Amino acid sequence: MDRTEVVIVGSGFGALAAAKKLAKAGTPFVLISETTEHLFQPLLYQVATGVLSAGEIAPSIRAILAKYPNADVRLGRVVDVHADAKELVYEAAGERHTLGYNFLIAATGARQSYFGRDEFAKVTYALKTVNDAKRLRDQIVRCFEEAHTTTDPERAKNLLSFIVIGAGATGVELAGQIKELAGRYFEQSIRGITADDVTVTLVEGAGVAMPAYGGKLSEYTKASLEKSGVEVVLNTLVTDIDEHGATLKAHGSEAGERRTAETIVWSAGVQANDFAGVLAERTGCETDRAGRLLVNPDLTVGGRADIFAVGDMTSLNNLPGQSPVAMQGGRHVARTVLGKTPRGTAFKFRDKGSMAIINRFRAVTKVKSIELTGFIAWVLWLAVHMVYLVGFRNRYIAVMSWFGSFLGHRRPHFHYAQEPSPVGAVDADNDEDDEVSVAA
Ligand SMILES: Cc1cc2nc3c(=O)[nH]c(=O)nc-3n(C[C@H](O)[C@H](O)[C@H](O)COP(=O)(O)OP(=O)(O)OC[C@H]3O[C@@H](n4cnc5c(N)ncnc54)[C@H](O)[C@@H]3O)c2cc1C
Repeated sequence: MDRTEVVIVGSGFGALAAAKKLAKAGTPFVLISETTEHLFQPLLYQVATGVLSAGEIAPSIRAILAKYPNADVRLGRVVDVHADAKELVYEAAGERHTLGYNFLIAATGARQSYFGRDEFAKVTYALKTVNDAKRLRDQIVRCFEEAHTTTDPERAKNLLSFIVIGAGATGVELAGQIKELAGRYFEQSIRGITADDVTVTLVEGAGVAMPAYGGKLSEYTKASLEKSGVEVVLNTLVTDIDEHGATLKAHGSEAGERRTAETIVWSAGVQANDFAGVLAERTGCETDRAGRLLVNPDLTVGGRADIFAVGDMTSLNNLPGQSPVAMQGGRHVARTVLGKTPRGTAFKFRDKGSMAIINRFRAVTKVKSIELTGFIAWVLWLAVHMVYLVGFRNRYIAVMSWFGSFLGHRRPHFHYAQEPSPVGAVDADNDEDDEVSVAA
């Protein structure tokens, strides 16, 4: 029987934080993930808008852990747990494998939620994986290219219309970037298209943009987006979506309003990945409406002292689904496993603040009661993201790309859209970062 001391499931923020602690302590562990990249999701929108390449935000977790002989990274999908036998079942290379453990740390994250309207997945673009970002990037390029050449003005208008659903950080950052892209890249490189021809509509069900912030920061976000030309539609739900548009229904209104757009991006909600459901069933742990595990205060799952879960797949004390929660959770659990923290110690999250970029030189930052907006917040955003990007090379290249995009007009990672890809098509053959650059 294949056995190890600790099994970590996932290669995101929670998993990597736990893995690093165990690796440094010399504890043998196996990390199993269905992708071998460590994806920095907060910058996915920059891959979608050509600022960064996928490689810059998704280094190989194998490479990160290569120098630790006690770390064994495996590409596989975990499908089951036999809690009493302390065994995990995973699929890899077309086979089923069983792996024994003393401790299990699950950090399998979350995926998009369509609130019961799963058919929306087929007609919208998502932003959760590297392939999502590449698919959206191809679509954006295709829309501009085809709008440039079509002789049908109605079609051109549609191609240059973008609807982003959900005004959380992802929706705000993406909407701001698409508008900026129109004015600072395509306007320079495609004759006859100006930023004014491009419509970006950001739709939010709540009464403010970026509801997680509220107050002054939400107001600033809305005002900044509107100043840059993004239409911000609040108190409104999207009731229908098809390949050519969406129906928006304001709260309290009887009829919906049809908006046409060739590109609709869904960033309105998340739900835990499937493995959370498996763990819930096998350990008796309860879940919330988004399928997240209602873990114990020490991050153990159900009645088990040897199974932990961290990050987006969990719900504890209303902590936000953000990377610092996953990272600190991963470290807390690793310390518990290593015996550095007594068993049963409650996880305490240290909130170091949160931030979102709106567009070039504008961001919002909240650190405890200190709220910053504008250029200072933007510089802080830049500094923090440089620190958190994994790997010196990635940091260096990202900084160069940011200078090129924010100070100049470059979008180094756009490439020609060779084939128009229909909405809903799976971009199966576009999983390599082998783009041909068309630097502006
Ligand atoms: C577009 C976007 C923007 C964001 N912006 C911000 C931001 O600005 N600030 C912020 O703090 N947070 C942001 N977040 C949230 C942040 O990225 C998440 O909170 C964080 O990634 C959660 O970490 P995690 O380890 O729980 O899960 P993830 O990082 O999602 O990792 C989950 C891992 O589990 C693996 N996996 C899933 N199922 C299985 C299985 N069955 N078997 C094996 N492996 C599996 C996946 O391949 C993945 O490696 C953003 C998220 C998105 C999508």
